[in-house]
Amino acid sequence: MMVEISDIRNAIKGNKLSGQSICVHSSTRSFGGLKDGPRAIIEAFLTEGCTILVPTFSWNYLIPPAEDLRQNGWNGPRPAINNQTKIYHAGTNDIDVDMGVLPKTIVNMKERARGNHPLCSFSAIGEKAELLIKDQKPLDVFNPFEKLIGENGSILLMGVDFDTMTLLHLAEKKAGRNLFRRWTYNLEEKPIATEAGGCSEGFTKFSRYLKDIVKEIKVGNSLWKILNAEEALLLSTNVIKDNPEITRCNHKECLRCEDAIKGGPILTGAKNAID
Ligand SMILES: [Zn+2]
Repeated sequence: MMVEISDIRNAIKGNKLSGQSICVHSSTRSFGGLKDGPRAIIEAFLTEGCTILVPTFSWNYLIPPAEDLRQNGWNGPRPAINNQTKIYHAGTNDIDVDMGVLPKTIVNMKERARGNHPLCSFSAIGEKAELLIKDQKPLDVFNPFEKLIGENGSILLMGVDFDTMTLLHLAEKKAGRNLFRRWTYNLEEKPIATEAGGCSEGFTKFSRYLKDIVKEIKVGNSLWKILNAEEALLLSTNVIKDNPEITRCNHKECLRCEDAIKGGPILTGAKNAID
């Protein structure tokens, strides 16, 4: 059976999410049939007075490092490295294909707000969109989560697992790690360092630690996991402090996981790493 806007609205209302700010990580395919696709999700949440926050990363603005930092999880350029002087600003709609159709739809909407981070921007739509987004900066990549927590907001995993939950990278920072530095151009075409999250593949292991604060519901075939953002951040920060290995993925050679667990990049004495 096709899921319709009214089904999504009922799920929002029934789980007391109306009026909330919510960071959504989603697979629209998980519904097993969604009438009107991502537009149905957006319309349902906006009609219920919610603000939707989504990651809208755009790694095509990546440039090679302007300085070598130790423990920075970097072993050479990624394929998508920016060879022209390509300049990001919040008005651009570039987004990585693997971000999914909901973020892509939102970033292309006129009314959306998009953050000031060329590689790892967040975008939002709804009443609190501007508030959630306005203080994101190259060296404060996860500021939108601080604002989300200020609004007593939630995280919603819509048919996806904890390896999509970007908040867990903020938990790594709160646990004392430095976030990786990745380079891009600023508006003046000058190379700048930005903060970026690392490898997320190991994050599925958080399910057993977060299970007591996760509410699970089904909407069509889509399994939704709902978490209060602040509770999730506090709990997962403590989990990382107690057991740093929790974040390691299954790839033995994963340099990002290795360096993150050691504490991330060494910034003492780094020229371009702190603004
Ligand atoms: Zn890894």
